[in-house]
Parts: sequence; C-alpha cells; structure tokens
Amino acid sequence: MALDFAGLTDQGRVRARNEDALLQRPERGLFAVADGMGGHAAGDVASRIAVDVIDERLLAAGPELSGDAIAGAIRAAHDAVLRAGRAEAELAGMGTTLTVLAVAPDGACRVGHVGDSRAYRFRDGALEQITRDQTWVQAQVDAGRLTPEQARVHPFAAMITSALGIDASPLDVQVHEPDARPGDVFLLCSDGLTGPLRDDEIAAILTRHPAPDDAARTLVEAANEAGGPDNITVALVRLE
Ligand code: CA
Repeated sequence: MALDFAGLTDQGRVRARNEDALLQRPERGLFAVADGMGGHAAGDVASRIAVDVIDERLLAAGPELSGDAIAGAIRAAHDAVLRAGRAEAELAGMGTTLTVLAVAPDGACRVGHVGDSRAYRFRDGALEQITRDQTWVQAQVDAGRLTPEQARVHPFAAMITSALGIDASPLDVQVHEPDARPGDVFLLCSDGLTGPLRDDEIAAILTRHPAPDDAARTLVEAANEAGGPDNITVALVRLE
C-alpha cells in the first residue's frame, strides 16, 4: 500500500516547551503521536521514550503488525516510562499519551491508543473519530452529563484517566481495526489540535487541502490562530 503522509509538531503560542513527540516511519507504515506531561523537562522525556520504544519494538515485530504486537509495544513503552520516572527524582510522575497507527503492506490499518491524543479517519468529506478519549469529560459525555461540545471547552478537558508512566490508574490499552481503503486519510493528533478546533473545522481544512503536507501545515496554523494554547502535533497519512 503506497502512502502519502506529512507530520508536524509545533510548540503553540502559550507553552514554554514542546512536550509532544511525533514518530514517522512511512517505509514501515508506522506513525505515532505522544503528548507528554510532567514537571521540569519531564513531559518531553516521557513522550520521547514512548515513541522510541514503539519504534524499536515494532521494528522487531516485522511488517505485519497484529493488534497484540501493538498492544504489547504500548505496554513496553509504559514500563519504560515508569522505570525512567523511578530512576530520576526530576522525572518522577511524568507520563504521556500515545496513539499509534500501523498500516500493513496489504493496506489493513490498526490503531493503538492510551490517553487523549486521537486518531480519526477522513473519508468522502466526513471525519470519524476512531479512538475514544480516556478523560474525565469523555466519561461525563458517555453518562449523558455533558455534550461533546461542552466537553471540548470544559475546564477539566485535559484530565486524563489513563496514561503511560502513571501507575495510580490502570493502563487502558485500546486497539482498533478501522476499515480502510484507498483514498482514506488517517489523522493522528494531540489535544493541542482538538482543543482549539472542532471536528467540523478540521474536516473543512482536510476538504480544502487534499495534499497531506498542505493540510498538516494549515491545521497547525488554524490551531495557533485559535490561540495555540497547547503543543500541536499532527500526522496525516493518505492511503493511495
Ligand atoms: Ca497536550
């Protein structure tokens, strides 16, 4: 399966550092976004460890990545972030989200996920969220206490209920096998994109900018024009 792809990570307009990490291995059909959190410089350490472990583990697993291989690599990344956090006082308590997309040689797609970074599929002008946010506000939406739009702008929107490197809550590894066909565009992103922009705004940009590099740049610009409150990371992968 041939791919057209683009990825960008941007500090945004408010944060002092960029704690997101982006992995792009198009030759292996592997992409990942991680959004780190922690004091001092620990957030960027956590997100970097996570994508590095995914890269190494899934290289060893070969080209046909099963859902089990992806889930196993995510658990290994969790263990690596935990170990690093215990080894150095400055890194204690760091954590990260992780969203992974693997496109097999036959075009089958698998998505692995922990936290509130997202994967979407854009097909025929419609944007569909594949992952479900592991957040307090999403639980409120599921219980009918908040609308998705209220959740997006809620003061507790960033409160994550599962993350790599955090052992206070159980690690909730989700693997999805979304239907995929030529022409589909997969979007991985951190909440620095989906906080400032509604899904319909993201879909409008993807409609106007079919080329992934053009779309990635425009998405980051739009999040910054909406205030750029957080680090912004996008990976766009179009199946050809
Ligand atoms: Ca973030």
